[in-house]
Amino acid sequence: MDKEKQFTISRAVYGPVKSWRFGSSLGIDLLFVDSICSFNCIYCQLGNIEQHTDKRKVYVATKKVIQDFKVVSQSNPFDIITYSGNGEPTLASNLKEVIISLKALTSVPQSILTNGTTLLNPDVIDALCLLDKVSVKIDAGSEAAFKRINRPVKGCTLQSVVDGIDNLKQRFSGELEVQSMFSNVTVADLDNYIALLNKIKPDKVQLNTPTRPYPSEWHRENRGNHLQEYDYPVSALKIISQKNAEKVLKAVCEKTGLDVQSNF
Ligand code: SF4
Repeated sequence: MDKEKQFTISRAVYGPVKSWRFGSSLGIDLLFVDSICSFNCIYCQLGNIEQHTDKRKVYVATKKVIQDFKVVSQSNPFDIITYSGNGEPTLASNLKEVIISLKALTSVPQSILTNGTTLLNPDVIDALCLLDKVSVKIDAGSEAAFKRINRPVKGCTLQSVVDGIDNLKQRFSGELEVQSMFSNVTVADLDNYIALLNKIKPDKVQLNTPTRPYPSEWHRENRGNHLQEYDYPVSALKIISQKNAEKVLKAVCEKTGLDVQSNF
C-alpha cells in the first residue's frame, strides 16, 4: 500500500468526500477500529458487520479525533463535516464531546448519517441537537422488509426507529432527512414505505440505489468513496430496474409531496 493510502486509513478523519449535494464533506469516523453497527444491511459497503451491537462506548479517544481533524483539515478544504465512517456513529458515546470540540475549531455545518436505532436514548438526542443536519436511514415500510434489508440486532424494530425519530423531532431544530437505499425488497414494500414517510414528514428524502458492490470482508478504507481503487473480492448487488426506479420516484413524489432527490 502506498504512503498516501496508509496515511488515510490510519486517521479517524477521512476525505473530503465529494458530494454533488454538499460539495466537499469531511468524514469523522468515531468507530474506526472495526465495522460496528446495530444493523447489518444486505448492501453495506463495509461488508458483513464485524461488531453487530447496539452498545454505546468510546471506540476512538476524542483526543485522537481532534488531532486527526487538525492534520487532515489543514490541507483539505471542506464545506461540511459528516459523522459516518465504519458503522453507526451514534454508538460512539463520545459523539457529543467531539461535536462540541469541533465546533470550537470550525464554523462549517455538521451533519450525521444514522440508522436511527439509538434515538430513544436522551444522551444521543442531546448530541444530535447540536448538529445542523440529521439523515436517518429508512429502507422499509414494514417490519418484515426491515428485517430482511437491515438485519438489525435482536430487539430492534422498525417501530422503535420511527418512535426514535418522533423523539428527535420533539427537540431537533435542524434539517431532518430520510435516506433510503432502494432494493427490490423495498420496491415490493413501496406503499408501506410511502405511508411511513407521510407519518415521519422529513424536510427532505434522498432515494438511492447501491452504486458499489458488496465486499466479502471489512476494509477500513471502504468508509469513503474509495472502494473502486482497491482490489478486493466483491459480489455484485442486484439493483432495481430503471422502470421500477422511475415508478418509485414518481410514486414517492406524488404521494408524499415531500422534497425528494434521487440517484436513480
Ligand atoms: S446502517 Fe450503514 S453502516 Fe450499518 S450496516 Fe447499514 S449500511 Fe452498513
